[in-house]
Amino acid sequence: MTNSMEIRTRFAPSPTGYLHIGGARTALYNYLFAKKHGGKFVLRVEDTDRERSTDEAVQAILDGMKWLNLNWDEGPFFQTKRYGLYNEVIDKLISENKAYPCFCTAEELDVKRKQAQQDKIKYTYDRTCHKLSAEERQAKVDAGMKSVIRFFSSDDETITLKDLIKGDVMVESKELDDLIIRRTDGNPTYNLTVVIDDATMKISHVIRGDDHLNNTFRQIQLYQALGYKLPEFAHLPLILGPDKKRLSKRHGATSVMAYRDMGYLPHSLNNYLVRLGWSYKDQELFTEQEMIDCFGLEGCSKAAGIFNPEKMDWMNGHYIRESDPKDLVPLVKEILENDGIQNCDDAVLFDAVSISVEKVKTLKEMADFVKLFFTNIEPDPEAVKKTLKENTLPILKRVHEELTAAAAVDHDTVHDIFEKVMKEFDTKLGKVANPVRVALSGQKISPGAYDLIRIFGKEESLKRIQRHL
Ligand code: GLU
Repeated sequence: MTNSMEIRTRFAPSPTGYLHIGGARTALYNYLFAKKHGGKFVLRVEDTDRERSTDEAVQAILDGMKWLNLNWDEGPFFQTKRYGLYNEVIDKLISENKAYPCFCTAEELDVKRKQAQQDKIKYTYDRTCHKLSAEERQAKVDAGMKSVIRFFSSDDETITLKDLIKGDVMVESKELDDLIIRRTDGNPTYNLTVVIDDATMKISHVIRGDDHLNNTFRQIQLYQALGYKLPEFAHLPLILGPDKKRLSKRHGATSVMAYRDMGYLPHSLNNYLVRLGWSYKDQELFTEQEMIDCFGLEGCSKAAGIFNPEKMDWMNGHYIRESDPKDLVPLVKEILENDGIQNCDDAVLFDAVSISVEKVKTLKEMADFVKLFFTNIEPDPEAVKKTLKENTLPILKRVHEELTAAAAVDHDTVHDIFEKVMKEFDTKLGKVANPVRVALSGQKISPGAYDLIRIFGKEESLKRIQRHL
């Protein structure tokens, strides 16, 4: 890497669905690599598959990237807006005899493919149409026959990919048949458009999933045919599920926005993803600036990353505890609102969020934990039956009496009441506080008795205890 070379990376999603966890990791690595080297991060939407590309998917990808704060410096560029350029390049390849029209029909090719299968030989296109004379070609065009354009692949070359993660990988060009670079419907295909775009957008480093490794050999051929300078390539091993199979919906959510909806913080997801296939000493937690400063392709693993939901929960719990509760209030409020709980008081919510940061791993759990302050939740009969019994009801009754007489419900006042009742019944704090907690919350798991009394206030607390007496 010379100093004079500007570092330019790109993320090039096909808009056929939501932003996948794996795509987000690719985007993150490209973003970090560009930032670290003071370069540019380009966003390019690869939408030439017109049947499968949708505007909703474009929006979903942009939303996911914005949520993760993966801000791009240039783009989004859309490949469907660049057909003029692609066609110019295709014409040039044809005029230099590096590409040719092929009129073979799908049926004809199918017969040949099946024959190869029967003969147990690898099928490659037999170049029937490359052998046509100019007159024969013209006759087919005049007859209205449709053609694809194929790239003429050399037969006698060793193509070497010098991958920054995988090392040197080689393929014999005779293994690669004449690739279709434009379909009969006029749409150019991925391997061609990606090369033209990466070259013209001056991408210095192509960092992507290793599901594209095999495409890279064809792309190198095209770079050479077009006289373009090769970028550096770095292919990341895929992300696998805990069962070591390719990460899919079977393993749980794979969409970035589903993680938002489940209450993960964007920084938790970035921090989790950065470590999923890359390491820096034994550091697990990184601020955004640390990620930028420490990131490098030399730290990328050759082995697949295994998605570990527990680790992700741990990390999210960590960043929830690290957050300023006031930043969490609007996020929790949104979850509550989506749950039909409107008009939460911000001050109460702030108090509730502050007492729950230590107890939850996601914002969804946090919303569940605090929602009793904002909506009526039916007491859980099991929790009530287990805790509020003959021997605890007299305790509860005494707390109710003391609380009725109390001037305030701050921590110290409640503490004094609990101490007094503990002494009277010659029992432990838990035997007083827990029945009070269950009487107030009606739940097995809830904020503690002091917090419940303080946040509910005196009147509401008395009412809630009374309903069990
Ligand atoms: N559009 C391709 C995909 O979404 C990515 C191509 C690339 O990164 O070269 O798989």
